[in-house]
Amino acid sequence: MSTALLKTVSLVKSFSAAGNLFGRGGGTVHAVNDVSLEIKSGETLGIVGESGSGKSTLGRLMLRLLEPSAGRVEFDGVDLASLPRRELRRLRRRMQIVFQDPYASLNPRMRIGAIIAEGMRVHDLAPRAEVKQQVLDLMERVGLSRDVFDRYPHEFSGGQRQRVGIARALAVSPSFIVADEPVSALDVSIGAQILNLFIDLQEERKLTYAFISHDLRVIEHISHRVAVMYLGRVVELAPARSIYTSPRHPYTQALLSAVPTVEEKGRVERVVLGGEVPSPLNPPPGCAFHPRCPLAEERCRIEVPELKAQREDATHQSACHLR
Ligand code: SF4
Repeated sequence: MSTALLKTVSLVKSFSAAGNLFGRGGGTVHAVNDVSLEIKSGETLGIVGESGSGKSTLGRLMLRLLEPSAGRVEFDGVDLASLPRRELRRLRRRMQIVFQDPYASLNPRMRIGAIIAEGMRVHDLAPRAEVKQQVLDLMERVGLSRDVFDRYPHEFSGGQRQRVGIARALAVSPSFIVADEPVSALDVSIGAQILNLFIDLQEERKLTYAFISHDLRVIEHISHRVAVMYLGRVVELAPARSIYTSPRHPYTQALLSAVPTVEEKGRVERVVLGGEVPSPLNPPPGCAFHPRCPLAEERCRIEVPELKAQREDATHQSACHLR
């Protein structure tokens, strides 16, 4: 792991929310709010948060599948916004996404072999005569039998479909993959196999991942570093080991203490979160976590805490006035 392959700088994505029939209740949702982070070449950054935290929007912004409202994304040192459409298309080959539900993204009228080969053909990555062999090799690598080349997506289980989604992403030889909740629709044992496949492929192909999940155990298993998101902001960013053994931000502490573990040893004391996740349409001022935070004080209701390095550990950042 060395240089940053992907960098976001003060990234913001806002959506207008429609009001009711009488024009009331509308407003702006800041789905992603001032996010600056880096993902180093060869590393997995786990992005974790509850539903509505903005993690999937952040993943799509990284690939420029969504246009940012402000800020920028740099890939391999290049500002994606500066690229003409053709160049962006070329660069996109190196940036792929694996979805939670590959079925929804697999054309039901195409055969599996053709689905996996599509990107290779579009980007002209292999001579025609070699495409089929390369697809068969890829299928074998992700754990699909060569016999299913001519089958259709509906004939597959969820786990097999996810393997197709991974093979399709790999077919264009990417260097960066956003995996958006890729195991959350699968049962635990199948999900574990898919996670291990991601890990093996990373080592073999020197891949870099942004791995998005609401599940802290999944994130712990796969990540080198972890970004914890709350209402569009990164509230804690640190090496995975450091997040799981000594979380600093009260929100991360509460999330971790709620995770049931076989071995409770070393876990922080259970913290029960009060209140509900506030609406992203009208987030609380100051630290957005303050209505639920057991440590909140006056300053927290007014000032937004900056994400900053801990004095005792520069690799561990937390956005809290007290931690
Ligand atoms: Fe809690 Fe204040 Fe820290 Fe926010 S800034 S997490 S409200 S102590």
